[in-house]
Amino acid sequence: MSWMKKISGAFTRSRPIAEILPEILKTDDPRTHIRPFYDDWLCPFTGTRVPAASWDGSPATLLRNPEITEYLYKLPILIEDGARAQLKAMPDLIKITVFMRFERGDSYKVTAPSGEWTCPYCILNTGILLTNWDGSEAEKAWFMPEALKHLDACEQYKADPINGAKSRQEIIESGGDRAKLRKLLTTDPRFKVIDTVGEWMDPYAGRPVAIFNLKKQPWSPALEDKILDYLLGPECPGKYSQFAVEKTLEDLKTAAATRMKQF
Ligand SMILES: [Zn+2]
Repeated sequence: MSWMKKISGAFTRSRPIAEILPEILKTDDPRTHIRPFYDDWLCPFTGTRVPAASWDGSPATLLRNPEITEYLYKLPILIEDGARAQLKAMPDLIKITVFMRFERGDSYKVTAPSGEWTCPYCILNTGILLTNWDGSEAEKAWFMPEALKHLDACEQYKADPINGAKSRQEIIESGGDRAKLRKLLTTDPRFKVIDTVGEWMDPYAGRPVAIFNLKKQPWSPALEDKILDYLLGPECPGKYSQFAVEKTLEDLKTAAATRMKQF
């Protein structure tokens, strides 16, 4: 420790840590209440995971939780720097949290039967191989950069990287939705209506989806997968009815035929 630090440390030590903490760990600062596994707390000074099962997760009760305060009162950075102790930047805390979750697995390591990784935020099959054909896991040095590349572009991740991941159960159930939708897509005529210019009609919204033009690209398994992604994604209202189609074939044909008149 430098003499400068020693002297400033001596000054700051005059104020007890308990008094300083509410000033540094502000309740409206998102860095102060991150829970990597929801039974813990991520220390924003060090990026260390502190077990805190008895904490309710509310920023207002953080500094009343004995598991957390006991840790903080002994924290060298607070003892040394006092009120000048710095929190890590939010992108660093996000990265630490996401890496911890990948390390543990659970909802961050769900794969499709083909072994490809399902993103826990958008619940799409990313096409990134996580489980090899022999059941072994893909090389971390290869998998992680690919997974991070997906997350960088994932709208659901960007909207809420800390709390936006779905549970393992939700991800697996959505796999069920995909199977259900695939069946509907291949058997229910309401999933095969196109409008006057060839655009595929979303049977839940009752309107054409411009990115799927059956006059420009013929029906194929690849297109089917893209439509499934769309149906399970944020733009399609199907999830609000658990993917039960409420419109009749007549409704959809009428909507498809009158489409041009709307413009
Ligand atoms: Zn995603």
